[in-house]
Amino acid sequence: MTTFQEFGLADPITRALKEENYVTPTPIQAQTIPIAITGRDVIGIAQTGTGKTASFALPILHRLLEHRAKPQPKTCRVLVLSPTRELSGQILDSFNAYGRHMNLTSALAIGGVPMGRQVRAVMPGVDVLVATPGRLLDLVQGNALKLNMVEFLVLDEADRMLDMGFINDIRKVVAKLPIKRQTLFFSATMPKDIADLAEHMLKDPARVAVTPVSSTAERISQRILLVDHSAKASTLAGILKAEPINRALVFTRTKHGADKVVKILEKSGIPAAAIHGNKSQNHRERTLAAFRTGEIRTLIATDIAARGIDVDGITHVVNFDLPNVPETYVHRIGRTARAGREGVAISLCAGEEMAYLRDIEKLIRIALPKEDRRTPGKNDVGPSPSQNRGGQRNGRSAQHAHRSQDGAPGNKNQRSRRRSHGGNGGASQPNRDHARNENSRHEHARHEPKPRPTQHGGASAKEGTMQGVAFLHRPSRPNSPASTPNRSQRQR
Ligand code: AMP
Repeated sequence: MTTFQEFGLADPITRALKEENYVTPTPIQAQTIPIAITGRDVIGIAQTGTGKTASFALPILHRLLEHRAKPQPKTCRVLVLSPTRELSGQILDSFNAYGRHMNLTSALAIGGVPMGRQVRAVMPGVDVLVATPGRLLDLVQGNALKLNMVEFLVLDEADRMLDMGFINDIRKVVAKLPIKRQTLFFSATMPKDIADLAEHMLKDPARVAVTPVSSTAERISQRILLVDHSAKASTLAGILKAEPINRALVFTRTKHGADKVVKILEKSGIPAAAIHGNKSQNHRERTLAAFRTGEIRTLIATDIAARGIDVDGITHVVNFDLPNVPETYVHRIGRTARAGREGVAISLCAGEEMAYLRDIEKLIRIALPKEDRRTPGKNDVGPSPSQNRGGQRNGRSAQHAHRSQDGAPGNKNQRSRRRSHGGNGGASQPNRDHARNENSRHEHARHEPKPRPTQHGGASAKEGTMQGVAFLHRPSRPNSPASTPNRSQRQR
């Protein structure tokens, strides 16, 4: 499939695609659209950045046009569940852009903004509702929304949803949906619990997979610096000064850590800014806009704050802290080397993080090249991983992602500009008010990730064997699990 014409999408959609300057479908689109357009359920293994939003939005819009119907009050025809407010906003933007010639009505149901506007937005009924699971359930439980008319369900970033503890909410939502519906299910990874969830939700699904992780990984030069905990900041400053950086995204596990890193970098003469849940909406938006324009080249972020942010031209990802969830490593480094470009991922690993490193290497099936910069004999381990986990939990639970919500369709550039503005989390059409920022106890409570068993088992004996060693070993399967042959091809 080489052009969008070949999909036979309805005219209003192809016109919108032209205006978006989409000429060639991405691999996930080429695989998903022809199947989804027939009404069949699909499981897609694809990451953000692969064009997966259009791969589900376009066939759904086509089918909405095929069976035009006015949504009934307090219902939606399409329900998209996404893990974060930011990603939800971006998905809604995409639906509005691709559906700009079809009088689409849409709304956003996300936490962190007042519920009243969202209640009013869904009151007349909407074609498309994009929601985070917690706020969606609040609307349903408050009788503001009924799910009995949903014809299309999309679950986006299912692995993230699970990781963030949304599994029970998702099951509750699915239990309220009509059995007769089309379900499109996307996840960047497919561990067993995700496969089980998919099994529960989908009927005879077609399986499609792209290998962004592996193909991205091939274009990413990855390396590990084994460092003393206390030397992390100076090592980071050294990297940022030495590397040819266009834009660098630095991940810390905690919000506090992010702020600390900014201060230290600024002292070293490196302008940097942090985004995380404790920053105000305005601050977040200004920071992101500055990162997009290149005014700030170094952005420090916690995982949840960085998720869903669509910034091109990130040449370097630095893991100031290694993530305790190995899949997160894959998500993080996937922020660079987008759109066929090359990228660099450098991870700082202190002694107490060796267990995380082993988990990551197990997942990606690559022994990453390591450079040992530790002071011999120094036992400098910093805070324990369990403390860090607590910090990450906070980072996740208090995230405030906001987006523009002017509802007006626009081209890709306009949309990415809109993404840097505030959002109201209500109807995209016709309500164009701007939002007040408000914490949502519901979303916060539900952003708790599921607890993971402690993996830190004291890595010192093994560490000793790595002294001074830099190696790259690619076992028989050269890439990550997502690149195994049956995933890299279309599976049916
Ligand atoms: P996604 O993975 O859905 O977040 O999409 C990543 C980016 O690729 C977004 O900025 C989309 O607007 C853009 N995009 C998606 N599909 C295409 C396409 N076929 N041609 C050009 N850009 C695309």
